[in-house]
Amino acid sequence: MELYYYTINELQNKIRNKEISITEITQSVLDRISEVESKVKAYLTLMQDQGLKKAKELDDQLMNGEDLPALAGIPMAVKDNMCIEGVKTTCASKILDNFIPPYNATVIEKLAGQKAILLGKLNMDEYAMGSSTENSSFFKTANPWDLTKVPGGSSGGSAAAVSAGEAFFALGSDTGGSIRQPASFCGVVGLKPTYGRVSRYGLVAYASSLDQIGPFTRDVTDAAIVLQAIAGHDSLDSTSAKLPVPDYRSSLTGDIKGIRIGIAREYFPEELNPQVKEVVLKAAEQLESMGAHVEECSMPHTEHALTSYYIIAPAEASANLARFDGVRYGYRSPGSKDLMSMYMATRQEGFGPEVKRRIMLGTYVLSSGYYDAYYLRALKVRTLVKNDFDAAFKKYDCILTPTSPTVAFDIGERIDDPISMYLADLFTIPANMAGLPAISVPCGFSEGLPVGLQLTCKAFDEETLLKTAYAYEQNNEWYKQRPSIGKSGDNNV
Ligand code: GLN
Repeated sequence: MELYYYTINELQNKIRNKEISITEITQSVLDRISEVESKVKAYLTLMQDQGLKKAKELDDQLMNGEDLPALAGIPMAVKDNMCIEGVKTTCASKILDNFIPPYNATVIEKLAGQKAILLGKLNMDEYAMGSSTENSSFFKTANPWDLTKVPGGSSGGSAAAVSAGEAFFALGSDTGGSIRQPASFCGVVGLKPTYGRVSRYGLVAYASSLDQIGPFTRDVTDAAIVLQAIAGHDSLDSTSAKLPVPDYRSSLTGDIKGIRIGIAREYFPEELNPQVKEVVLKAAEQLESMGAHVEECSMPHTEHALTSYYIIAPAEASANLARFDGVRYGYRSPGSKDLMSMYMATRQEGFGPEVKRRIMLGTYVLSSGYYDAYYLRALKVRTLVKNDFDAAFKKYDCILTPTSPTVAFDIGERIDDPISMYLADLFTIPANMAGLPAISVPCGFSEGLPVGLQLTCKAFDEETLLKTAYAYEQNNEWYKQRPSIGKSGDNNV
């Protein structure tokens, strides 16, 4: 296999045994980027020179016999809503096109401490609002499995980069599914940790009660490795949990005998793509044959999660986005005569249509007279969704569902129909509403495109989540599949 398609785990062994230099590894990814990036378009900013310089430094340290941390020398990239000191952070929005943060997000500090090689910033839906990365103000990203399809979203650049061999891992953010859904569309592993598990300091906020940072990787072992590096309490984020971080890799035993898995009936509605259903139910059978107790269960409020999410998330977004006013950050519309018209012109010109739609929705549901009818009611529904999970976790360790009702759809297919776009997150939103950890792992193909299996566990039980996902993955070959893009015989245009 080509070097750029290795896993972190494989690279760690090769670096340790001095079979390969960090410069070679970095160069292989940069070459791969030159080869496929014009088709995939995952990167908004590429930090090629810094990456190579860092690689050389690390090679020198290795030559001097220094001991390096776990992620040392692994080229990676992050969604463009996480701040890196001195590097443009745009959230794929015109309004932040010239914003250069003066500080690092905590996850960036942690990865820098681990000496990972930061290769750049990845495309996304503007302010993480969307499910296809088509809402980026700059350009669209393509799905490496089929360039006519979307990579999912909003962290589509992160999923596509890992899938196409343009980074060994990437970070994304997940407010309603933006890590898991693109991971499922691009055939990689996507993990949304428990709310509070990973610091969000330096992540540009979308909906603060839902946002969580997590990894995209090629397998579950790598997800455990990256989570280990970024998890933990942070005094700079008041919502981060003061809990010890377990050793995640030690939970990857392959043994899931006795684990109780519930298959939530409500996640298999009529509209579910029949092949997706078949593939996911086959995964459930397999888990059963490996010793898990699998049975059907009911989570009756599931269908209301989506509607209440589209009240709560825009409400929080409208408050969070009030700060982008042409004074404090980024773009300012030139030529306005007074302050108010400057605010209005800046926001009019700086934000794209979906962001404006969310701000209008959000301010509407928070306005007096509508607050109780919409916002408060949505919060009550959120509690009901959480109660469904609490009840299910009395009987089960893990809930199994599809990640998305469909495989990757055509570029342009849903962009003019916000409701059909919102439906792409039907199965991922409940975990955000309840603050739970959830993972998407590749579990097969439908119409030649990857399908994701979603597992959800109790809050802060990432160990059971990773353990179950790992056992499933290792009994299959799905995670070893790579898109054929860039090779001769490349059938995807
Ligand atoms: N697609 C959902 C939205 O547009 C989720 C996005 C996300 O998780 N950031 O809000």
